[in-house]
Parts: sequence; structure tokens; C-alpha cells
Amino acid sequence: MKKHNFSAGPAILPQPVFEQAAEAVRDFNGMGLSLLEISHRSPQFTAVLDEAQVLVRDLLGLSDAYEVLFLQGGASSQFFMTAMNLLDEKGKGGYVDTGSWSAKAIKEAQAFGPVEVVASSKASNYNAIPKGYPIPDGLTYLHITTNNTIFGTQYKALPETATRLVADMSSDIFSKPVDTERFDLIYAGAQKNMGPAGVTLVIVRKDALGKVGRHIPTMLDYRTHIKKGSSFNTPPVFPIYVSMLTLRWVKANGGLKAMQARNEAKAKLMYEAIDSNPLFDGTVAAAEDRSVMNATFNLIEGREDLFAPFLELCEEAGCSGVKGHRSVGGFRASLYNAMDLESVQVLADVMHAFTEKYA
Ligand SMILES: *Cc1c(COP(=O)(O)O)cnc(C)c1O
Repeated sequence: MKKHNFSAGPAILPQPVFEQAAEAVRDFNGMGLSLLEISHRSPQFTAVLDEAQVLVRDLLGLSDAYEVLFLQGGASSQFFMTAMNLLDEKGKGGYVDTGSWSAKAIKEAQAFGPVEVVASSKASNYNAIPKGYPIPDGLTYLHITTNNTIFGTQYKALPETATRLVADMSSDIFSKPVDTERFDLIYAGAQKNMGPAGVTLVIVRKDALGKVGRHIPTMLDYRTHIKKGSSFNTPPVFPIYVSMLTLRWVKANGGLKAMQARNEAKAKLMYEAIDSNPLFDGTVAAAEDRSVMNATFNLIEGREDLFAPFLELCEEAGCSGVKGHRSVGGFRASLYNAMDLESVQVLADVMHAFTEKYA
């Protein structure tokens, strides 16, 4: 039976990418060697790294002011690495608190300099993206989480400020075009919408670096990795290769504008299925801030007993990963780039059949 993978992360990747990745593990480019056993400094692998960087630049339309890095440690390491490289006592980092990941970024940054939380939706259990708050002048940067994977909210427009942004784009990078010139730094763990776990994409503006006074350990200094083209030490060769294949797929399928159209069509279908169904409550996230990537929904009050039966019906139809994050409960359908509209239709049909049976 065909499986429909709605997991939030590690998440679905295009089927042809899995096939090409499997082949590269057996025999890379006809070398008679596995991708996993060749030198990361071989011309065969440096070509992969180069192509991955070019694809990132090309898809996002990056100017020469930016460097593209493939690092380890996950988005979680970027919570402190961004502040360690950009912030010290002379400056101030502004943060918008829109969920668990933002809160972790705030906590880590506080060790490196003054931090001001300029807005937060914590009081309403992060059901919305704050809007219309004053942004103080003189911030070193304003940090945002563009898509809140757990709560299912997403920025539809960037905050209006002349201050450069730093963004965690782990769960919506490459899902739509971005005005990259607004950013000093963008980071994303690969395992949501770009590739396998184990590599973290960092896009950084060169002129934002070198301004803090502290000693930065070599491995945690972005300048080390810029100077060495992400090969100061052994880079995560397999996740980089699979990310490169995924980005090739994104480009071959029309690039970020095409991804956006595709993703919006899927989200429309998904939210219509939730809103038209009397057993489900789609108000976990405020309507205007609903994520195109992660749709969160719940059972209506009083029908929480139907939690297990619904997941069972999903499994029977091949829909996996629909269970919500433990801190929110309910359900979450993640609709990343590689997911087809047909799969979303399967889930919508399951929801409909479920209501026929239980409403
Ligand atoms: C998953 C996720 C993270 C954590 O990523 P790791 O690579 O596991 O550290 C951070 N931010 C967001 C928005 C996420 O979705």
C-alpha cells in the first residue's frame, strides 16, 4: 500500500531522491565505490558540495554578500551560535517569541548579550504570530522563527523594520520565495524540508561577522567554515548529498514559485477538510496565521474519545505521522514540498469517512 507521510520531521523527501541516494550508497557515479567511503576532499565529493551551494544560491536568489554553509549540530546549535557570532554586550538582540523553538533560541542567546523579547504569543499558547508591536531602534538583529512547526503558525509577511533579521527557517525553507536581502542570517535544520537529519544550512551575510569582541572557538566561528568552504573538518557527506539531490528536484520542478503554488494548493485542501468537518476543531492556530507547512487540528470538545479511532483510520489508509506534537496534542499534518496533493486528498477522504462513521 502506498504510504502518505505527514510526519513533521524527519520528514518526507521526493521518492526519486531516495532512489538516487540508495544507488549512491552502493556505487557513487559509477566509481565502484560508495559515496560513504570516498574522501570528502575528492573531486567527486567537492563537486557535490559546490553544486549544493550553487543550488541554494540560485533557488533563493542570494547576492554575493552572502555565504552558504553546511554545518552540523542541528538548528538547535544555531540558537547559540548565531548569538555567539553576532551579539555581545555592546549590542542587543531582539526576539519574537512564537513557540517552543523561539523560546529555546531566546534562552540560548541570553548567555551572549542583552536580549529583548519584543513580542510574544505565549499567553495564548502560541496560537498566533504577534503583529503591530513596536520594534525598538538600535537592535543588532531581530530574530524570528518563520514557521512554527509545533503550533502550526507561519509569518505571512516579514516584520516591518529596517533592522536586519536572523531567522530560523527550519520548517519552511525552500517552500516559497524569500526576500533574502532582509536577513543577516538564515538557518535551517535539513530534516524538515531539505534533506536528511545531520546537516544544517546556514546563510550568512559576510559583513555581519567579525563585530563581536569575544573569543569564538574555531568550530563555532562561521568565519572558519566560510574560509574552508564547509570543509574545515569532515562535513556530513551523506546528508549534504541527499540535500543536493532534493534541491535539484526543487529546481527541476519549477523552483520556489512553483513550490509555493503547490504548497498553497495542498494547504487549502487540508484546511477545507478540517473546517468543513463537524468533528474537528481547526482553531489551534489563528486563521490568518495558519501554516502552509504544518496544519494543526484537534477533535471538538467532548469528542476527545475519538483520538485513537481517528489515528487508526489514518493508519489503515496509509497516512502516517498525523499525531500532534506532545506539547499541543491533537493532530498535525505536515505538507512539505515533497508531499503530493493526492496524498492530502487521501487524508481529507479519511477525515470525511471518519465523520460518516462517528458524527
Ligand atoms: C525541528 C526544528 C528545530 C530543531 O532542529 P534540530 O535540527 O533538531 O536541532 C528548530 N527550529 C524549528 C523551527 C524546527 O522545526
